[in-house]
Amino acid sequence: MMIYADRLKPLWIIAISIFVLGSCSSAAVGEQRPPNMVIIFADDLGYGDLGCYGHPTIRTPQIDGMAAAGMKFTQFYAVSSVCTPSRAALLTGRYPIRSGMVGNRRGVLLADSTLGLPPEEITIATALKGQGYATACIGKWHLGHRPAYLPTRHGFDYYYGIPYSNDMVPTPLMRNEEVIEEPAVQETLTARYTDEAIQFIERSKDRPFFLYFAHTFPHVPLFASPRFKDQSRRGSYGDVVEELDWSVGQVLRCLSELGLAENTLVCFTSDNGPWLQYELKGGSSGLLHEGKMTTWEGGMRVPAVAWWPGKIKPGEVNLTVANTMDLFSTALSLAGVDLPTDRVIDGRDLSPVLFGREELEDQPFFYYRNAILSAVRKGPWKMYLITVDSLGGQAGKLIEHNPPLLYHLEHDPSETFNVSAAHPEVLAALHKEIAEHQANLVPGTFMLDERETQ
Ligand code: MG
Repeated sequence: MMIYADRLKPLWIIAISIFVLGSCSSAAVGEQRPPNMVIIFADDLGYGDLGCYGHPTIRTPQIDGMAAAGMKFTQFYAVSSVCTPSRAALLTGRYPIRSGMVGNRRGVLLADSTLGLPPEEITIATALKGQGYATACIGKWHLGHRPAYLPTRHGFDYYYGIPYSNDMVPTPLMRNEEVIEEPAVQETLTARYTDEAIQFIERSKDRPFFLYFAHTFPHVPLFASPRFKDQSRRGSYGDVVEELDWSVGQVLRCLSELGLAENTLVCFTSDNGPWLQYELKGGSSGLLHEGKMTTWEGGMRVPAVAWWPGKIKPGEVNLTVANTMDLFSTALSLAGVDLPTDRVIDGRDLSPVLFGREELEDQPFFYYRNAILSAVRKGPWKMYLITVDSLGGQAGKLIEHNPPLLYHLEHDPSETFNVSAAHPEVLAALHKEIAEHQANLVPGTFMLDERETQ
């Protein structure tokens, strides 16, 4: 059933009421069963593309309301600046170089790719399914479209969506392992995904569920349904984002109406920064430098909002340096599933941050450009060994830096002032972090490039 409700009581008012009144009912529900989890993953949405992250003309009242009712992160990262590795990282909790979901010739899986996320990888869906969760993947997959690699082989009970990017022709629409439309009619994808997501929630409401809702847009080419087309003051890009915002509102509304909001964590974020090469068809990274295909902040720092009425204090703005791999560990923790011990898990449980219990210690975050380590961040400091731009005469060219570049991201989020000469001790400490990371790194058996030639 599609729920259309344009004039909604603001969600943040509902959430604040629930939080202020206490969480007796949520505690009671929480004791009965582990919480549901919903991850809404936009594609190529930039750090500056939402109202609550400062966009002046794209209207996103639902996500803004979600942030007002929950927690907004200002230093949250996708783990790659392109689709395939980013999705692998989120679902496995591991740097994608570990699963082999990176490549230097091919940065992502293409329509003629024959391989995908290795079967031995453990996804959030695999882990939660083992705990009795209903699981669904709605939307873009992009971790292998051959049968052996589809969502249904990676822990998802149900799949509805396109198996790779919408600019790869043809773009089939699939249900489970069957192509049901080719090419997919893209104008109505967001609306149909939303309908499918709501149907999944409704039919799963009596048991714990995990919904991975990975939108196709605002990845180019841009398509919005007739209801949203030509409505935004930001042009076709704004139309698409405003429809996504509507979709988020529908999901939250559905959870609230079914009485599930107080036992459901919803996270909204993006798989990488805006595709600036598409100029007005691409998004904005706001005050951050550069976009997709780069390890500059604009390529990987993304909007991130967490919502759980009664559990997350409304209106929090959190400065923790976190990333999508953390959602893996957080999901397993909330579901009461132990982390795998036979492999390295790079994400960490964000529950203490979400519930305001404590801050997490600084941990290094590594920025890969495909299979190449480009930079590391720890605390406020980011050191680059290699940069690559997506725009200008040097676009796509790897540029090595010796001495490295160093930015203080909390003083200089736009990465304007290289201060490496003044901080040799910081460079040394960050070099040490890289050395430790690489000493323990076992790359995937083969990378995307090599796999394609086999
Ligand atoms: Mg993307």
